Amino acid sequence: SDVKTITVVGSGLIGRSWAMVFVSGGYAVKIYDNQPGQAAKAVAEIRKQLNELEEAHMIRGELTSTQQLALLSSYDDLEQALEGAFFVQECVFEQLDVKQGVFQDVERLVGDDVILSSSTSYLMPSSVFSKVHNKSRCLISHPVNPPYYVKLVELVPHPETAAGVMSTTHAVMTKVGQAPVCLKKEIDGFALNRVQAAIIAESWRLVQDGVVSVKDIDLVMSEGLGMRYAFIGPMETMHLNAPEGLEDYMKRYSGGLSRVLTSFGPVPDFCGEGAKKICNEMSELIPSDQKHLTARKERRDQLLMGLSKLKKDH
Ligand code: NAD
Repeated sequence: SDVKTITVVGSGLIGRSWAMVFVSGGYAVKIYDNQPGQAAKAVAEIRKQLNELEEAHMIRGELTSTQQLALLSSYDDLEQALEGAFFVQECVFEQLDVKQGVFQDVERLVGDDVILSSSTSYLMPSSVFSKVHNKSRCLISHPVNPPYYVKLVELVPHPETAAGVMSTTHAVMTKVGQAPVCLKKEIDGFALNRVQAAIIAESWRLVQDGVVSVKDIDLVMSEGLGMRYAFIGPMETMHLNAPEGLEDYMKRYSGGLSRVLTSFGPVPDFCGEGAKKICNEMSELIPSDQKHLTARKERRDQLLMGLSKLKKDH
């Protein structure tokens, strides 16, 4: 048949999400975990989720949940799981030695043209793939949680990654409905987490310095910046915020922008009395017990589901 196969290695939160995304795009997905029975458990969980999504009319792709589930299989044996795959998405623990070991094992078991892709959030391609012989077929495909609703995938090359591997992966991600972006070289934190770190740092400083409350800094994002950032980024925001576009914006506002940027404080250390105060303030808004956190996560996912529907329709 012309159905192509992707192997997902590691069946935790992200492995399950990738499996759902890939089957929604019509790929056969073989899911493997080194904890016996874990991959089968993941498939059972996915079955439940796909049925719920179908009932809510939120299932992705053209296929029914039954058709998507028929594309999914689970393995406790890595060699069997890799048989026939053209693409491997690794989703194991965020530990360098574990990932390096997995890619060594995988490379021994697959042909030279199979693409090896890692989900790592914070490890660099040059570290993750340091023990792989053929690095030209390796890259990082970094998803955002939950990938089923937040579609960005950062594609990050190793210095030796072939251009064709980037473009094939870009095409795969597009086919399954994700939104891939290509970094041109590796950098710590990739793009998303670097931007997020800048936002976290300044938010933290503003609260710590007594400028705003925890509640209000979150409102600055959710009722302010976030409203437009779901649809247009910082570049287009500037382009649209001056009568004649970005160049005009810089003429008008770059002085103020530079002044504010040079007034930023040092990198916060996120510990000590100040940090404790911020954490307590957060816990008063949303208690840190499982009941409250789970309820807020469910709310977040519901809202993201609605937002992704809105984005699809526009
Ligand atoms: P997780 O702990 O939920 O799942 C990891 C799974 O990998 C477990 O089922 C475990 O049994 C399995 N595993 C561990 N070692 C293995 C091995 N040697 N072979 C096969 N399976 C093995 O973790 P997660 O949250 O799904 O994260 C997986 C990866 O995705 C990490 O690198 C993480 O940084 C990245 N990521 C996570 C998020 C997130 O928000 N959770 C977002 C983007 C990327």
